[in-house]
Amino acid sequence: MSNACVVGLQWGDEGKGKVIDILTDEYDVIVRYQGGGNAGHTVVVSGEKFVLHLIPSGILHPEKKCVIGNGVALDPALFLEEVEELRKKDVSIKDNLFVSDRAHLVFPYHKLLDALSESDKGQDRIGTTGRGIGPCYADKMARIGIRVIELYHLEHLKRQIRRNVEEKNRLLQGLYDTAPLSWEEIYEEYVAYAKRLEPYVCDTVEYVNEAIKGSKRVLFEGAQGSLLDVDFGTYPFITSSNATACGAAPGAGVSPKQIHKIYGVMKAYTTRVGSGPFPTEAGGVLEEHLRLRGGEFGATTGRPRRCGWFDVVAVRHAATVNGVDETILTKLDVLDDQETLKICVGYKYNGKVHERFPPDLALLPQCEPVYEERPGWRQDTSCCTSIHKLPGEAVNYVRRLEELLGLKVTMVSVGPDRRQFIRIRSTIQKKPQRRRITIHE
Ligand code: GDP
Repeated sequence: MSNACVVGLQWGDEGKGKVIDILTDEYDVIVRYQGGGNAGHTVVVSGEKFVLHLIPSGILHPEKKCVIGNGVALDPALFLEEVEELRKKDVSIKDNLFVSDRAHLVFPYHKLLDALSESDKGQDRIGTTGRGIGPCYADKMARIGIRVIELYHLEHLKRQIRRNVEEKNRLLQGLYDTAPLSWEEIYEEYVAYAKRLEPYVCDTVEYVNEAIKGSKRVLFEGAQGSLLDVDFGTYPFITSSNATACGAAPGAGVSPKQIHKIYGVMKAYTTRVGSGPFPTEAGGVLEEHLRLRGGEFGATTGRPRRCGWFDVVAVRHAATVNGVDETILTKLDVLDDQETLKICVGYKYNGKVHERFPPDLALLPQCEPVYEERPGWRQDTSCCTSIHKLPGEAVNYVRRLEELLGLKVTMVSVGPDRRQFIRIRSTIQKKPQRRRITIHE
């Protein structure tokens, strides 16, 4: 019996979709536990591209069960659209997809308020995807959220929608000078969703716990990245949920004791979408080059991602918070044509070099990355199927990251396709003592 959780160790888009798709072979049930339609996992199977926003990436394996947990902010329109899209691509969806009756619903007023609040912030905008996820979680915490189960108690649903829409209309009209929404229309829309959602809705807390009791293996799927976690990320430029493994237990309704292994996924470089501090952001020609080579455009919004070098300080912080056991390095192939690679090993601020990721938003933009340089390999790695076929410099790059992070890299991904990955035996037997970094000024 062994359950695991997959999380991103950077600012999201690490390639978790592909990794989960590969790991799914070893698990029976795949559970999404946080976030919502703001996530975008891409899986490429024999040249065909699947972009999943809400449905776990395990859905591409028909014999596996997929669960959208109580911690997810569920946009029913998006969910139903995604089901249809998958069906059109001949993905089997029948008795293998379950939606939590406790999941909170995203409503049109959430999306509208998301957009209005962003434009109102001007230069301080967070850079949200505008999918209404933040406002939906805000309502959850304010105890006025509406959950999936409420769709099946119509009088109650009507009362709640009316109360919420009337409240939001005061904001829309008073603060944003916008036309009010009709609670009757929203109510009708959601009653129609209720019927179409019904085949998928169940008590997933019971389902997942029964599966665990029955010795099924469960994989918990994190969305976004650890540096976007509401508690441990670069607040307030974060997402509104716990994108770290810390979110898996409350987001799925299992005991933390049931999560036995944490996989951390990290790109061979760093990207970030939206606003917020990003110490190793490259800028200029290099950034543009990485963006084009890596296809760094948001799967949900199409926005260009900001790109830069690998940041050990940030990833080490993320790995600590998650208690990562093994890491998976993705997109190594994107660095194939670099002559020299840089790894950020410390941040310089206030005249000193620091190895700790600071929580202060005022400090992060002042952090000057301290880089270590490594030679590039200037060879195509996208066809490499074993570590022995990787160029020596590429192996050294991976080993150096292991050493700096004190973590095993057990898989390297060298292309978007399901088959483009290498399983490797780590050189790290146990976590080494952290070494202090000597910086020569
Ligand atoms: P997620 O949100 O963490 O699942 O990340 P995405 O789905 O946005 O994945 C990032 C993008 O990189 C997708 O388009 C993937 O198909 C692609 N991708 C994943 N792994 C690799 C890789 O090793 N190399 C390359 N070149 N692309 C990859």
